[in-house]
Amino acid sequence: MSQRYGRSQADRGEERNSGADGAQIQLHGRLNSIREDLHGVKDAIALAVRACTLTALDLEEIGDTATVAEVDQSLRQLLDAQHQLEVEERLLTSLCSSSEHEDPESVYMKEWERDSKKYAALDEAAKYGANKEYCEFRQQVWNVKHEGETMPPLFGAGGNDSDEELTIAGARRTYKCPITTTWLVDPVTSKACKHSFSKQAITDYLRAKGGRGACPVGGCSRVLNREDLAADPALERNVARRLRQLEAEESSATYTMVQ
Ligand SMILES: [Zn+2]
Repeated sequence: MSQRYGRSQADRGEERNSGADGAQIQLHGRLNSIREDLHGVKDAIALAVRACTLTALDLEEIGDTATVAEVDQSLRQLLDAQHQLEVEERLLTSLCSSSEHEDPESVYMKEWERDSKKYAALDEAAKYGANKEYCEFRQQVWNVKHEGETMPPLFGAGGNDSDEELTIAGARRTYKCPITTTWLVDPVTSKACKHSFSKQAITDYLRAKGGRGACPVGGCSRVLNREDLAADPALERNVARRLRQLEAEESSATYTMVQ
């Protein structure tokens, strides 16, 4: 991919400048407006990533694995675009912060091409296996049909061996609250340790401890604050999905018995 975003505002504001300082200020103004454009595109990508995840979860539930694979491919393209934007942002920031440039455009293009080649040469495990959003997407899709089972490594053994991937790939998600031991209700997930709780239960627990306390999951050494807990709508959907599955299994069992 070689699209470049947000050139429109860069073309604005042709002003005559007074000497080198004026040119410098004008350049920085333009670079900053391009950077602001990038934020809008990044937000749009984040929304699209979220939409991909929700769509894939519904498709997985009805067993349409072919379309799930298509969504997976689309997600990878979005993550490629996201990577591009991050590179652009980094280059723009470094151009803004350095004061002397013989030719900003050629500096930019040279760096840009260098990074594009480097990224294109990476294998899938390196591109996506270490990407937190991609791993979470795969984990959630896995959870639809495999509650509580450990997800196998995404790109096989010997692919990417970063700690983060292993942690996420080996994570066991269950749909019961460790405090109430019943199904999660309004689940919230800790940003510190990724453990999830029913909102009311963890709120009561932390209140009783004066606002912060040890994570109630056995073996977890994190201390939780109320601010560490975020609503987890994807998990909530998975719980609801699991309950629907159980209900369907139960009614088909009843039907068999009646027969
Ligand atoms: Zn924990």
